Amino acid sequence: MKNRMNPFRHFKPLAVSPTRRQLLLSGLALALVGAKPHASQAAGSPAALRHNAHGKPAAKAPGSKRLVMIDPGHGGIDSGAVGHEGSQEKHVVLEIANHVRRFLQHRQFDARLTREEDEFIPLYQRVEIAHQHQADLFISIHADGFTSPSASGASVFALSNRGASSAMARYLSKRENAADEVAGGKYRQQDNYLQQVLFDLVQTDTINNSLTLGRHVLGQIRPVHHLHSPSTEQAAFAVLKSPSIPSILVETSFITNPEEERLLGTHAFREKIARAIADGIVNFFEYYDAHQPKPR
Ligand SMILES: [Zn+2]
Repeated sequence: MKNRMNPFRHFKPLAVSPTRRQLLLSGLALALVGAKPHASQAAGSPAALRHNAHGKPAAKAPGSKRLVMIDPGHGGIDSGAVGHEGSQEKHVVLEIANHVRRFLQHRQFDARLTREEDEFIPLYQRVEIAHQHQADLFISIHADGFTSPSASGASVFALSNRGASSAMARYLSKRENAADEVAGGKYRQQDNYLQQVLFDLVQTDTINNSLTLGRHVLGQIRPVHHLHSPSTEQAAFAVLKSPSIPSILVETSFITNPEEERLLGTHAFREKIARAIADGIVNFFEYYDAHQPKPR
């Protein structure tokens, strides 16, 4: 695959080109305004409080910090994958996400979480939260399971609009996309509606930037943990269908692997993998800044 041989070849700055971008985002805004409030909004959860009444993003002050939206997978009635010892993915990934946020804040980034508690948020809503906050990046954090307990290692995924890059990518994207099913399928229709809009809007350069981000994150995980896949995989993850925000999903480990379930239960490993993710994000922005056109 071209991107794997030279992942930076297609890199383009994140800066917007007004006409096309504005068109895309206005289309997105229409879709979002049309979407109904979700369950946690009705419950007055922290996630709901971050949404303003008009569904419009808050204005970003000039020179403000870059904002990374960190998405701890699953939550509430959706426990995610469960290990043999009973560890639940939703709790593990929230802990890791908190560490990532702390590390990024130490590096002068604005970092926020899509959920701060054990609550259910539909997948499309996670994308919407990132857009309403005008996030510069979106990172979904997971620790999934597989049918075989021997599957192990970390992997990083970006969106694909042309099918999955491997059987595991297809398997995991199906699993992740099924998260909304545990809520009884009541989000499915909205989700499909929004996904269709987003899918049509997905830009090649956003996916390429996501692949570049994935490469930087993998580069930092490689020295500290075994990789299940050496390069960024791609599949149609619903939570990555953001038209303008580079988005990746990090599978930190397989919670169904007994050794990795044990690791995921330790503070040391959670911090180590979180630091690697944060360092990868920082490296991505440094790379991005170094490739910005210089004013004359
Ligand atoms: Zn997951």
